[in-house]
Order: sequence, then structure tokens, then C-alpha cells
Amino acid sequence: MTKTNIDSIDIGEEMVAGFAGKGLKQLTPATQRKHGVGPFSRIVLRGAIVIDGTGAPPWGPADIVIENDQISGIVPVGVPGLGIDEHRRPAAGVLDIPCEGKYVTPGFIDSHAHIGTPFHAENGTMMPADYIYELWLAHGITSVREAGCMNGLRWTLQQNEAAREGRIDAPTLYPYVYFPAVNDYLKTIYQPEQGRDWIQAVKEKGAAGIKFFGAPPAIMEAALDESQQVGLRTCCHHAQLTAGRMNALTTARWGLTSTEHLYGIPEALLSDRTLMIVDDDYNYNDEYMRFAGTGQSFLQAAKPGSHLWEEVLDAFLDVGHTFVPTMNPYDANRDVMRARRADWHDRFTDQTTWNYFQPQRGGHGAYFYRWSVKNEIEWKESFRIWMQFINDYKNKGGRICAGSDAGFMFQIYGFGLVRELELLQEAGFSPAEVLRSVTADAAALLGIEHETGILEVGKRADILIHNENPLADFKLLYGTGALRLDEATNAPTRAHSLETTIKAGIVYDVADLLADVELMAAGSWSRQG
Ligand SMILES: [Zn+2]
Repeated sequence: MTKTNIDSIDIGEEMVAGFAGKGLKQLTPATQRKHGVGPFSRIVLRGAIVIDGTGAPPWGPADIVIENDQISGIVPVGVPGLGIDEHRRPAAGVLDIPCEGKYVTPGFIDSHAHIGTPFHAENGTMMPADYIYELWLAHGITSVREAGCMNGLRWTLQQNEAAREGRIDAPTLYPYVYFPAVNDYLKTIYQPEQGRDWIQAVKEKGAAGIKFFGAPPAIMEAALDESQQVGLRTCCHHAQLTAGRMNALTTARWGLTSTEHLYGIPEALLSDRTLMIVDDDYNYNDEYMRFAGTGQSFLQAAKPGSHLWEEVLDAFLDVGHTFVPTMNPYDANRDVMRARRADWHDRFTDQTTWNYFQPQRGGHGAYFYRWSVKNEIEWKESFRIWMQFINDYKNKGGRICAGSDAGFMFQIYGFGLVRELELLQEAGFSPAEVLRSVTADAAALLGIEHETGILEVGKRADILIHNENPLADFKLLYGTGALRLDEATNAPTRAHSLETTIKAGIVYDVADLLADVELMAAGSWSRQG
């Protein structure tokens, strides 16, 4: 990286330059449509039970009309027990999809995801972007907030244009570009005015928002102010190197839209000290210490229900802050064997990603080289406090959104978001609240509530068809399904609820996507031996 001439780096491409300095390349972008049919001038979903994402309970049966990429009608067509009233049905479409006995929900919005991370290239050939997109679509993800654009803003915008035009099989992308002002990564911004200019430049280029990893406070404050002036949303991973000067509440008050992960929250809850205490041999660049230390941060903070706890929650609420906890990658910290042996790895995890997950020095998040019982117990306790924080915030009226951050710590694309839904339920959310966090609330976070997020006439046709109610058990959404017993044979079987993902009017057969992903993953193992 020392050889990189930072003056020559294009704005929005700093991440790419940083990786290139280490000899790491971008992913191979998707270039063609291989799956799905449509969009059509008219599709009708027939006789579905509707769960619209607003928090309303299920209702139906209804026929849903899709014209091109939009929902143009949601028509009640009968009463349970009395059958369908044929007179009320809308006219046939080019494609009619029978949905009697099935449930429809809005497509999911992953509020924190990466189209791969060039970090993985340290361990072999990276899977193409198609692998990630298809896993997303196969798990119902129709929109993605790309939190950092590690393949560069230009690359991400090009992929998004292709996705929007239906030229590739991918969710709609909302690129949040990395703000280069931290010491431990590529840094090109040293003054507040440079930060303001940079924000204006990426706005011009088409970024949907900014991803911060912290910054010197004066630069951060200026950049957040500028972002609001130009109408860009913001999110921040409050890296520990900056959280001592500027915790999540500081930046929330400066106008930050959302806090990612847990960093910066315990720092806002300190009452008997002003800085986190770390072990004497702590070194942030030792990933074991970094993550072991994070497992102790909530343990040093004000107790749930205490005066300060309530005060801090209210302060976040006052400024309308959102949290995107992305608990699922940290799930490995409380039981690494569980994460490492997850059902899906055998069939769906490619060899390079798998190798990257294994304990190694230098890899981000590959720190399980001396993970102990003590580490797991501290993280279990931290999760209890973190989950209570999230649940209390939701109960006070605050917004929490589901994000996956897959590609790290044994979490795979698509599967990670479903695990996040499970963890939100574990935190105390009802299943309907969980669904809202991955649909309507996520749309509001991204400022796209006029486009998608709920099932309503005029919204984009981002719709999932499930063969049973997914709210009854989110495990049904995994590509590998949920374990059940076939009573007829008295043998184990797998139930899988998601049959069809409709993205902007394009109809995808989930089984077809999963079969392709499985082939790609298998190919990675035979290719590399
Ligand atoms: Zn991330």
C-alpha cells in the first residue's frame, strides 16, 4: 500500500486501490441473465394469503396483479371456507401463478451486505458475483444496501444498472461508498473541507449513501453535515480506534443515519469510566484481541434498565437513529463450532470462502486461533445485553433493521440474513416485527419507502411466494430448509417455504437458483482440489 500514490486515486475507488496495493482484485462482475422469466406486461398471483410487511396480520385470499415491474392490483377474491368468488377475479395475465394455500410477503431488504470482499482473494480464486446474487435471490433478498462498495463505486453502479435493466440476476443495489479517513486503512481525507468535497463528488457519481468506519471528529462532523445537505444517507461501523473520541451517540447527534454492528454503543453507555479498558497486551491489529475485547465492551457498560441505559436509548430515539445490528457474523463468537458446522457449508460454501474463514493471521475476521470457553461466555453475556438494547429500542419506537454482513465468520450470503431474522426473534421481536425489520423498516432506512418494502399498489413488484407461513418458523427460509419428520416414513426430511422470488417483476424459481449455486460451489472444490 505504501507504493500507492493517493493523489491519483479516483474518488469512490479508494477501497479498490487499497486492495490492489495488496495484490487483491475485485470480483468478476455478473454479465448475463441466466435465470428467471419476465418481466411481463401482466402477471397474476392467484388466491394468496397476504402478509404485507406493514405489521398487519395475514389476510386473503387475494389476487395480486403485476404489470411490468410494478404491483398494479391487490384484489380480495373470497372468504376463507367459502372458496374463491370467480366474479371478483382480475383478468388473466400473460403468466398466472396459482397461490392458493400459499403466503406472499414483500421481498427482503438486506440492510448491510457486501458483494463479496476482496479479502477472500488472499485464499484463492474468488467466486463470481453471480454466486452471491443467486444466493441472495434464493433467500428472498430483492434489495441490498451495499455497505462499503469494496469492489469500488463504479463497479457497483454498473452492476446496479444491469440489475435494474434486468440484464443480470441480481437484487436492486443501493451503493453506500467507503469514506476514506481512517488511519488503519487507506486514507485520502485529512481536512474537513476535503471531506465535504469528497461527499459532493460521490453524490454526483451516483452513490446512494456513505459508509464510515469513523474519522477524526471534525472531519466526521463536517462529512455528516455535508451528507445531509446533499441528501445522502449514512451508516457507520464505529471502529474501536475512533470510538474513544466519538461514540455512536455523538455521531447520531451529528446526523448519522444508522449505526452498524455493536461498536460505539457500549462506549455511549459508560458510567464509571470514559474509555474501554483493554488487556495490557491488546493490539487492535491482532484480530483475536480485537474481537475478544469487543466481547467485553457491553460488560463494562451501564446495566440494562439503569438510568443511563434509558437516557441513552431516549437520546438515540430523539434524533431518529437506526441500528443495523448484524448479529449473525458475531454469532460464531458465542459458539464457534455451531457456526463452523452449519448445515449449508457442505453444499453451498465455496472453497475460497471456506479457506478464508479458517484461523489465520492477517485475514479480517479469521481470528479463531485461540478462541476459548471464556471468550464464548463473555460473548454470550454480551449478546444478552446487546439483544436487550435492540429490543428496548424497538419497544420505545426506534427502528432496527436486519442486515447480514455475510462473508465473514462462517456466515454465507442469504443464509446469514435468515440467521439474522432468527436472532432478532431471540432478542424479543415477534415474528411480525422481525418481518417488518427486513421489509418496511428497511425501506424507510434507505429512504426507498415510496419504491418497495411493502405489498401495495404502485410499489415495485418485489414479492416472495412461500408454500407455508414463514413467520411460523424463519428456519423454513434457509436454502437447506428446516429439519422435520416425515410421519409417513418416520424419517427426517427438510421443509423449505420459499418457492418463488419475484424481483421487479422478474420471476425466479428458488430451486433453480439453489441448484446453480450448488454447482458453482462444487466446481470451486474440484477446481482447486
Ligand atoms: Zn460490513
